[in-house]
Amino acid sequence: MIPRVDLPADARPDTLAVREGLPRTPWGENSEALFLTSSFVHPDAATAAARFANEEEAFVYSRFGNPTVTMMERRLAALEGTSGCIGTASGMAAILLLVLGLLKAGDHVVCSRSVFGSTIRLLQDFGKFGIETSFVSQTDVAEWRSAMRPSTKLLFAETPSNPLTEVCDIAALAEVAHGSGALLAVDNCFCTPALQRPAALGADLVVHSGTKYLDGQGRVIAGAVCGPSALIESKLVPVMRSAGMSLSPFNAWVVLKGLETLSVRLHAQSDRALALAHWLQAQPAVERVYHPGLESHPQHALAMAQQAGRGGAVVSFVVRGGRAAAFGVIDAMRICSITANLGDTKTTITHPASTSHGRLTEEQRLAAGITQGLIRVAVGLEDLEDLKADLLHGLAAAAA
Ligand SMILES: *Cc1c(COP(=O)(O)O)cnc(C)c1O
Repeated sequence: MIPRVDLPADARPDTLAVREGLPRTPWGENSEALFLTSSFVHPDAATAAARFANEEEAFVYSRFGNPTVTMMERRLAALEGTSGCIGTASGMAAILLLVLGLLKAGDHVVCSRSVFGSTIRLLQDFGKFGIETSFVSQTDVAEWRSAMRPSTKLLFAETPSNPLTEVCDIAALAEVAHGSGALLAVDNCFCTPALQRPAALGADLVVHSGTKYLDGQGRVIAGAVCGPSALIESKLVPVMRSAGMSLSPFNAWVVLKGLETLSVRLHAQSDRALALAHWLQAQPAVERVYHPGLESHPQHALAMAQQAGRGGAVVSFVVRGGRAAAFGVIDAMRICSITANLGDTKTTITHPASTSHGRLTEEQRLAAGITQGLIRVAVGLEDLEDLKADLLHGLAAAAA
């Protein structure tokens, strides 16, 4: 049995975020140790045999498990309020693990049309193995219900969506899934457990790209699946052991330390994003602003109830004048980074129509609401006044 940290049973999330993990080693380190080792040594041959036969729980080989990875998994599970978690090499590896572990040929998936582009591609790719996916509206629960088939095993949602921050009703989708004996998985990348806990709303599995807010400083690629430990142990761990999309201990350590400041960062970044959204709404060059914290957001009430009263740190807006004006705003930035990553303490700015959604046809883009004037800002921790000043250079030119 791998021991637990001795914490009060009622310790709250902010405490768990800095304390949950594994007990200290005999050296008494205060900051968690980084175990860069590919394998683990056994005291004798009989013990090695027992550990390989799974008769005794211990660390054996880092493709199967590693103390630093276990610390990250325990901490993230504590924050999501799930009994289990398994770390993966990336966010996409987490979704791959989910599909490999839970589905077989003949099974059917229902997924929002507005999820991360690579998620759509991955699910479509599984068509060649006999796993079919129906893509439905992010916001219309009736569409999810009517897409259900007897063979539907998994519903997959991501909320809020990127870049238009459309919110889906997690509790309603859980009801649709459970009514047919299917599971609901939610990609919680944008809100993180600091704002939204899908498991408490009925989701069975929570997927993460640790690359984004969990690391929080744009350093590593990482991922995880959170859910009931029995399900993870029986369905996902065996796939991980053979397929090997394991999280590296170094990346796990970076994410583990990132989790300590997650709620402080997410709250501060989300509050800055809302203030920036209000300010953008008042700019003459801006046609429309998307942020769940704005009263003008179509699912404002649902978002506030589901996301602990905060809209998240991503704000998108449409600048008058189409692509030329949008490029003008982006190119005038002196502080914000022009990069598609998000979840960083450094504010990032991107033009979705020519980057993340660049491979779609103009018709598909317009159907998804991605116009040429759309700009996405993932707000970091710079001073809000400096961010406004940075945006104002380009916006003034667009308004002129
Ligand atoms: C980035 C992202 C992913 C994929 O994560 P990687 O760590 O890049 O593999 C999945 N879902 C969402 C919502 C993302 O933003």
